[in-house]
Amino acid sequence: MRTLGRLVSCLAAGMLLAGFARQDRGGGMKPKDTSCDLSGAAKGAWCDECNAAAEKADVDKEGNHKCGKKPREAVLCVKKYYSPKCHPEHVLKAGEKCCGNKGEERLSKARVVVKCTDCQEIGDKEAAHKEGCKSKKVVKTCTLSGNPPHCRTQ
Ligand SMILES: [Zn+2]
Ligand SMILES: [Zn+2]
Ligand SMILES: [Zn+2]
Ligand SMILES: [Zn+2]
Repeated sequence: MRTLGRLVSCLAAGMLLAGFARQDRGGGMKPKDTSCDLSGAAKGAWCDECNAAAEKADVDKEGNHKCGKKPREAVLCVKKYYSPKCHPEHVLKAGEKCCGNKGEERLSKARVVVKCTDCQEIGDKEAAHKEGCKSKKVVKTCTLSGNPPHCRTQ
């Protein structure tokens, strides 16, 4: 799925921006909580090798993903969005347009994880904390949390 690859790299860039935005407390405004609400979280097949959801079409008869590795079951956060042909990297909400074009319906799938608010390590049920991690406080989130369409407020 070439489109998905492009999406993930675009979102990775967005993640950096979102990080900066969160630190910007100018104007006395509270930083917005843009974390994912995890609505629509469901069990699904996940490939650790590709760091992506393993779609049925990409799994062969032996149960191997296109990369040759066996996907495993994981809790996924699935969000619907719309991708316009003109700018496939743009994430549109229902009814939104880009360059006058409506988008095609797509699903963005991220892994639901626990993430340490201190050392940022993630895990399925427990985070393997970095050496020196003090608080070891974890929150439940998804790996694309804060990036459209995985945002509470977009
Ligand atoms: Zn794979
Ligand atoms: Zn466009
Ligand atoms: Zn930690
Ligand atoms: Zn999410």
